[in-house]
Amino acid sequence: MDRCIKVAGNSIVQLNFGPNGDWGFVAFRLIPIEQETNYKNENDHHEPHYRTILFYTYPTKLDDQIKIDDNDTASVIEHVKQMIRKLRPECEMTDVLLELWDLAPKTIPNDPENFPFKNYYPTKRRKLQDIDPSSVDPWTSSRVTLLGDAAHAVNPINGSGTNVAIEDADSLSQALINHSSENLISCIQEYEKEMLKRTSKEVSSSRSFALYLSSPVGYFGMITRQSTFKVVQFFYQLSALNHGLRSKFYSLIH
Ligand SMILES: Cc1cc2nc3c(=O)[nH]c(=O)nc-3n(C[C@H](O)[C@H](O)[C@H](O)COP(=O)(O)OP(=O)(O)OC[C@H]3O[C@@H](n4cnc5c(N)ncnc54)[C@H](O)[C@@H]3O)c2cc1C
Repeated sequence: MDRCIKVAGNSIVQLNFGPNGDWGFVAFRLIPIEQETNYKNENDHHEPHYRTILFYTYPTKLDDQIKIDDNDTASVIEHVKQMIRKLRPECEMTDVLLELWDLAPKTIPNDPENFPFKNYYPTKRRKLQDIDPSSVDPWTSSRVTLLGDAAHAVNPINGSGTNVAIEDADSLSQALINHSSENLISCIQEYEKEMLKRTSKEVSSSRSFALYLSSPVGYFGMITRQSTFKVVQFFYQLSALNHGLRSKFYSLIH
């Protein structure tokens, strides 16, 4: 991870673009010192430890001839590495990505002491498919309604799916604030109307961005995307820093 940060910059979320419409995602966080000191490997105490999320995507059309078991972790990881070697240019970031994928566990750890919660999901390969709610046949409103991905799966590229689901919950509770047994269904109808309109826009916007990113751009396009992303990231970090400094300042004067 230290090498990855050196090459791609220090941000908890890193997008890395390839020239063929492929792109990868690395999100990481440092493990707190008190957790780190619990590690059995004493020699490693002074090394920072990271928890990392990785994914790699490429356009479905590049998949034509490929036959792999999408649920077999070891073969999925081998396949991802093959695709990275095939689609990405030779460079240090490609080497770092291959190394990171090598570290991904190939079996479910059978280690209840270090993994006491069943929150480890083995690597799988999945087609990313969104659902624009305005393309679904209308349904008759009743006491049962939908929110979140069940109503409108959003492409994850904008990282907005959970936000939209929370907005749904807010909108539904607002619509139900003054409900009675007589107007319950019309309150739900009001929520559904607002939810369908709002979320259809979000699905389209994430879809457009995903399609834009999955168009092949060649080597120079890849560098341009990477540089643009770095500039955007810089402004995000600046605004986060500004926010952090402002809250520190307010906590000092109050
Ligand atoms: C790779 C990826 C990356 C993403 N990254 C982001 C991001 O950075 N930011 C963001 O905001 N969003 C992101 N999203 C989207 C986000 O995960 C979803 O939009 C969000 O989880 C939707 O919440 P939900 O409660 O509607 O559905 P879910 O989180 O899918 O919850 C549905 C739950 O129902 C359970 N379930 C299903 N069937 C049954 C059944 N029959 N009985 C009982 N339980 C059942 C499932 O196991 C699941 O736990 C990402 C999605 C993906 C796939």
